[in-house]
Amino acid sequence: MKSVIVLLGPPGSGKGTQGEMLSEKLGYTRLSTGDMLREAVRNGTELGLKAKGYMDSGALVPNDLIIGLMKEKIAQSKGGVILDGFPRTVEQADALAQQVEVDLALDLDVPDEELVNRLTKRRSCPGCNAVYHLVYNPPKAEGVCDKCGGQLYQRDDDKDETVKNRLNVYRENTMPLIGYYEKKGVLTVIEGTGSIDDIFAQVQKAVQ
Ligand code: AMP
Repeated sequence: MKSVIVLLGPPGSGKGTQGEMLSEKLGYTRLSTGDMLREAVRNGTELGLKAKGYMDSGALVPNDLIIGLMKEKIAQSKGGVILDGFPRTVEQADALAQQVEVDLALDLDVPDEELVNRLTKRRSCPGCNAVYHLVYNPPKAEGVCDKCGGQLYQRDDDKDETVKNRLNVYRENTMPLIGYYEKKGVLTVIEGTGSIDDIFAQVQKAVQ
């Protein structure tokens, strides 16, 4: 069984949803840099204060703020890990390679129009980080998280203007990682459209 799994794919491709399902299924730790950074912003920590401006505009947070943090979290994790949103640059991937060997990089492939639709209709839970879609995957009660009862909100960077920028940033900085992991022989591309359960079936096949 693969024990270091990287989730690639643009914003809105389902990394959070599939990563969470996989972490429950395998008992692996899911480490999401986006969730960690949002928590730091909410708590007003030094990291949060430094990261906020970048996140609000859809830019990447500088590598030096992320790499050390992620390496520490990986070192503290016991058992398998699922990395959601890291690495996002070649420099981050090189830093990760110095610490652990990646067993599997899963690229969730979704067309741009679908990404925009998913992101702008996404609602997130600040309490447990669960995500919903207003049409495809709505919560049972409007505005309330099924899992923890938290009040759902729309992330600032899920608004129309910022989404475009995030997709450009992805293309420029993160897409090269598809080739990077392909060369290492650990890439699996998953068709990221269709039902959440169908996609998860493909994800499970890839990790075996
Ligand atoms: P996400 O929740 O993964 O979409 O991440 C939200 C925002 O957090 C991104 O738009 C970036 O500003 C920042 N971020 C998350 N992961 C990284 C990373 N590995 N490197 C740099 N910035 C990141």
